Amino acid sequence: MHRALSRSARHLGALRSALLAVALTAAATVLSAAPSPAASAAPDKAAGVWAACPNGYVGLTYDDGPNPSSTTALLNALKAGGARATFFIWGQHAQQYPSLLRQEQAAGMWIGNHTWTHPHLPQIGEPAAYNEIAQTQQIIQQTIGQTPTLFRPPYGETNSQIRNDETRLGLTAEVLWNVDSQDWNGASTAQIVQAASRMTGGSIILMHDGGYQTTIAAVPQILSGLSSRGLCPGKIISGANGQPVVTAP
Ligand SMILES: [Zn+2]
Repeated sequence: MHRALSRSARHLGALRSALLAVALTAAATVLSAAPSPAASAAPDKAAGVWAACPNGYVGLTYDDGPNPSSTTALLNALKAGGARATFFIWGQHAQQYPSLLRQEQAAGMWIGNHTWTHPHLPQIGEPAAYNEIAQTQQIIQQTIGQTPTLFRPPYGETNSQIRNDETRLGLTAEVLWNVDSQDWNGASTAQIVQAASRMTGGSIILMHDGGYQTTIAAVPQILSGLSSRGLCPGKIISGANGQPVVTAP
């Protein structure tokens, strides 16, 4: 317990140093009176806050959007904390709200495929399952000019046929989760924050861009909790055998 506290204290020290460095950099920028100093301020701050990650990276994931009642607020909360997350998109929602999908990309978020209508894939058979995934690849490509490599099957339900579909469509990682925030099941903000506190290096947490105010309100506390435990929000990539791995952004 005592060791943990002192490690946490050391980390807070590092965080303070990082923030001080950001402040000094900002001051130097102002003093140098360069022609275009303002634009670099925000990314510098984000990098400074998350500079130290002694205990590794975690994947923050938000499913089922874009959603006009939550996407913008969620992006603002993440940006305020200098954090990037992975959004698993419903193709149908991307078609309805293309500007929100573009906002996600502009905010530096990573975009994954979460099917067109969120069916129980193993139950609908082929070619329906393939088409659900393929159409979603297509709309995302058309909207933001990039084709996802990450796929999250609705309800985490998958099988060898679906994994074969993913491979054919260039989806190199099937991303499930090992921490469920239960935001979809009525969890309070405190309960979502509590779930996030169970993450360790390499963890992936399931949350939703589903209009839940609880999920949005949890963001600042999730980020400060990660920071105090020496963890940083990371990028999910495809590791060996298509297993998702969380790395530095
Ligand atoms: Zn979902």
